[in-house]
Amino acid sequence: MVFPVEKIRADFPILSTRVYNKPLVYFDNAATTQKPLQVIRAITEYYEKENCNIHRGVHFLSVRATEAYEDARCVIRDFIHAKSCHEIIFTRGTTESINLVAASFGKQFIHEGDEVITSVMEHHSNFVPWQQMCLERKATLKFIPLLEDGSLDMDAYREMITPNTRLVAVTHISNVLGTINPVNEIIALAHQHNIPVLIDGAQAVAHMNVDVQEMDADFYCFSGHKMYAPMGIGILYGKERWLEQMPPYQMGGEMIKEVFFTHTTFNELPFKFEAGTPNVEGAMGVRTAIRYLGETGMDRIDAYEKELLGYATQRLLEIDGIQLYGTAPHKASLISFLMNNIHPYDAGMIIDKLGIAVRTGHLCAQPLMEYLKIPGTIRASFAFYNTNEEIDRLVEAVKKAKEMLL
Ligand code: PLP
Repeated sequence: MVFPVEKIRADFPILSTRVYNKPLVYFDNAATTQKPLQVIRAITEYYEKENCNIHRGVHFLSVRATEAYEDARCVIRDFIHAKSCHEIIFTRGTTESINLVAASFGKQFIHEGDEVITSVMEHHSNFVPWQQMCLERKATLKFIPLLEDGSLDMDAYREMITPNTRLVAVTHISNVLGTINPVNEIIALAHQHNIPVLIDGAQAVAHMNVDVQEMDADFYCFSGHKMYAPMGIGILYGKERWLEQMPPYQMGGEMIKEVFFTHTTFNELPFKFEAGTPNVEGAMGVRTAIRYLGETGMDRIDAYEKELLGYATQRLLEIDGIQLYGTAPHKASLISFLMNNIHPYDAGMIIDKLGIAVRTGHLCAQPLMEYLKIPGTIRASFAFYNTNEEIDRLVEAVKKAKEMLL
């Protein structure tokens, strides 16, 4: 079946903008995806017809907005196949979801001499919170190394687990290398030792089917804005048995049951972790984005993006002096590369002037750059609205940059 890419593109108004008088080619989807009209309209409609603060009011609008917000929570539950809606916590994004677990789980379960395992390929969001929490609690942070092709060294991981390991936190998909990590195996190994696992799903949810029960993740984090929904909203999935044992992350309204002058009792899940007025419009956007993905079909999206990746890899490798970073057999639709000794920023500036948005630099993964001994990379990351013709334009732009800079 042919993928209806032109029909899909028509849903994304920004794709028809021109930059430097050239049609925009948007290959920075790993940083944030563009939004379809359906999502933009859902947000506008919320403000036109439903806007109200939720959970507190008994009047019509408040009840309606509360119902819509709680419905969004359950749509997300279905999307990632969680067991119950109250295991879905709304946050500001992946970063806040991970910070919540680092602060709350850390306070409850991490003590001096304990160990946390992460990997060298992590985004700063799944790195700095653990580093700082371990420093504070006098625990040790250990890093799973990589194989040549950018896969995790699973033998090293196996050997890293000790009786002191309290948590494993790894990414589902590397935002630099594109590697799709064997999360089921990572989790199964940790669970043999009763160690919970947090998966950073920021780069995964928009590109593949995610089933948190099947993978048996204890925590799974992702952001709305990387899955065609608005910025400022994200999700923390946590197994009830962990969330129940963890203390609140922030204090204030919504997260309380009763407040006295001397003490406070806390609300039940999920509200215990949602202090203050939430991002209701964001939840409306995420709900609509999930419906959009469902109508398009995650399997079809996955298959089409794999075709884009295959074509882009083959075309870029035609250019002499191109070096790819991340060649694992299971790879998501993004390519990090360098050419000759050209600095990624210099190349990025020329590619930009040709109307193509790619990301350049350390990609929020400085430890990985240090590990690979490179200053950064140029990254083209694809979404299901991209086309082979756009990849051809990227290849021409890379050739031009090389010509000008060598
Ligand atoms: N984790 C990964 C793998 C990412 O790629 C990103 C963003 O690029 C994040 C976490 C942070 O996401 P956010 O900035 O939406 O919190």
